[in-house]
Amino acid sequence: MQRHIARYTLEGVKDAEISVHPFATEDDLGLELRRFHRADCDDVVLIVHGLTSSSDMFIMPEHHNLVSFLLDAGFTDVWTSDFRMSNRFPYDTETHRFTLDDIAHWDHPAAVRELRRHVGDRRVHVIAHCLGSVSFSMSLFGGAVDGITSLVSNSVSLTPRVPAWSRFKLAVGPAMSEYVLGLSFLDPRFGDAPPFTRGWMLSRAVSLFHRECDVRACHMESFMWGSGRPAMYPHDNLDPVTHERIADLLGPCGLNYFRHVRKMVSAGQVVKYDPSDSRHADLPDDYLAGAADIPTPVLFLTGDQNHVFPQANVVCYETLNKIAPGRHELEILPGYGHFDPFTGKNVHLDVFPKIVDFLKRSAA
Ligand SMILES: [Zn+2]
Repeated sequence: MQRHIARYTLEGVKDAEISVHPFATEDDLGLELRRFHRADCDDVVLIVHGLTSSSDMFIMPEHHNLVSFLLDAGFTDVWTSDFRMSNRFPYDTETHRFTLDDIAHWDHPAAVRELRRHVGDRRVHVIAHCLGSVSFSMSLFGGAVDGITSLVSNSVSLTPRVPAWSRFKLAVGPAMSEYVLGLSFLDPRFGDAPPFTRGWMLSRAVSLFHRECDVRACHMESFMWGSGRPAMYPHDNLDPVTHERIADLLGPCGLNYFRHVRKMVSAGQVVKYDPSDSRHADLPDDYLAGAADIPTPVLFLTGDQNHVFPQANVVCYETLNKIAPGRHELEILPGYGHFDPFTGKNVHLDVFPKIVDFLKRSAA
């Protein structure tokens, strides 16, 4: 394959001063914020990726990306957070037992503290995707962060729902992978591994069930993340370059987060991984119980072709709308899936204007 785009390139954002702001969590992980600054403004935006993605899904050079769209729309001080789920760090592939509690309690609060050190008490809007949205919603509705002017949540928030096939994978996948296959993490690039290694064989086996395209990493992403061919996005929504380099945007990951998501799916809403874990005693056992007291309006986004967390954000909107009628909004994106509302080729026409409209109304 002829590479068109360097991994981790920042060239997708023009006319902005780009700076990196390291910070550390309470459990001593080094994480980073990236700042894309054109001018100081009253409304700062912080963008949060999902599991095994990174800042890079918001700054892709091959389409009109979210950071550039926000800068052009007058939100001239945009930040992206790379927390412990980011593929810019090694944490996803190291031996670990991280949970979404760790992220909600330690990563996002530390990121917001570092952000506030630079932007003071200006309004802060957050846009979050996938398990970044779940964990940030936990931070917000669990009281670990406050003072957020608005939140945009894509795909899933406080009420995770998955298809039946994903439920099965969540139930047996982690043990099967770790104890039977001997794979401590799954990598979309397993297709590039030496022939007849475990990863290579898994990739070949997965590809037997995915004839929809010839990108092996795309098959592995479907296997890792949802139910469908492909599971993460309708092919037509992606620029072919994005499809070819999908493993740049969605990297390898270990399996413990899946155990936590499984508990949440079983409970019908976010719950602690281990309620007796005293390290997270500050987080609530029931995130919906105090939801009426959290004034931040949320725009729930989901594609009507979402095969990763189908209906999850519809359920969350309806649940919160009963608790605080009229505070939150729901936008169902016709023809969109799970990952493409941020990374698709036409999102500057179909999706980003809706986000900007919500941000502007929330700032008024
Ligand atoms: Zn594909």
